[in-house]
Amino acid sequence: MTPNNAPTRAHKQDARAWKKFTGTKYTAALGQMMSPLAQGLLGERVSARRLIAALEEHKLIGAHGGDAILGENGYLSDSSWSFDGKTDYIQLALITDMLRMFTPNSDTSSTGVDSYSLKHTAERFLSPHCSYVTNGRLIWAAAAMGLRLAAPDGGGPNLLIGVSEREHDYVSRILGSGQIRPHADHYRPTGYERLRSTLADELITDSWVRPVPVDEPAPFHDWLIRQVNRNDVVGDLAGDYSAGVRNSDHRLARIADDLLVIFREVSPSPAVYAAGVTAIGEWIRTEPLSAPIRTELVNGDSYDHEGWGAGAGTVERYEYLCPCGDGAIIEEHDNIPGHREHDKYISCDKCGAEWRFVDGRSIRDWALEPVSAAI
Ligand SMILES: [Zn+2]
Repeated sequence: MTPNNAPTRAHKQDARAWKKFTGTKYTAALGQMMSPLAQGLLGERVSARRLIAALEEHKLIGAHGGDAILGENGYLSDSSWSFDGKTDYIQLALITDMLRMFTPNSDTSSTGVDSYSLKHTAERFLSPHCSYVTNGRLIWAAAAMGLRLAAPDGGGPNLLIGVSEREHDYVSRILGSGQIRPHADHYRPTGYERLRSTLADELITDSWVRPVPVDEPAPFHDWLIRQVNRNDVVGDLAGDYSAGVRNSDHRLARIADDLLVIFREVSPSPAVYAAGVTAIGEWIRTEPLSAPIRTELVNGDSYDHEGWGAGAGTVERYEYLCPCGDGAIIEEHDNIPGHREHDKYISCDKCGAEWRFVDGRSIRDWALEPVSAAI
């Protein structure tokens, strides 16, 4: 946040414009321009002149010299604005930041989030700083920011606002009561945590820059999504998996190991688990980008051993989860003079029948693949 001890020229120009536009006093308008909450929490402060200009000049909601197109109730509503002269600008600035935390949706199709849903999200997210947001003000802030706006075919006062639907769904469910909370955070907007902590009055001094999206490779995820329309167990699994990602029910399975982690979290039916093993087997068998799996280390021990007469040594024993999670993968190293032994084995009857160690790797570098991968 910018220090708010001295108004800049822009603050003063904005205060004059807001005074004239809302019919308030200059000092009250300047007070609003200088509010710490209105200095742009996720980027540059939104200029009051830009807000005023949007109502006149915006392609869809601008009056262009005629009657107002946007009012307090929304698009094509003749409800005129009602300004309180104390918090009206600050609230618009906060709504702007709330919208700014979402990834803008730049495609030209009619996807986006309904302004009425966004208005409710804004109220819940910005409370207690701004507990009531009208449909019209939500649209106004979006227009001033240059977000894509579209009028839905059915008409009415609501517009579609061009922000990520998935991210909005995530935030709406985090804030909502009685809705199923997301179980994974891959659709959490990049500015969410930052804005939340700033509004909670946690001290933040650096400025926020929208992170460049990192395209983390997700070869197993990409492959599984491509199997969605298949008419077999792998296709069914892919359909369920894809719906789970969409609804933030579980994380992404970037590599096959992640699918087993998801399975341990969601406890699938035996049939779904079996379909998962089949899918991993097929992936490893057919995809050049595939890799066999490793599992989580649950116990690791290394201790000194006095030896068997030829000097002391060490014994190492590591225990990893087995793929199904009910047993273990054991890795052992006896480093004792005269007695050196290295071993690995699957200590789970179910996994012992379904998985095998990949050939040609050292004991420490073990990896597993479904038996079906080698067929
Ligand atoms: Zn097992």
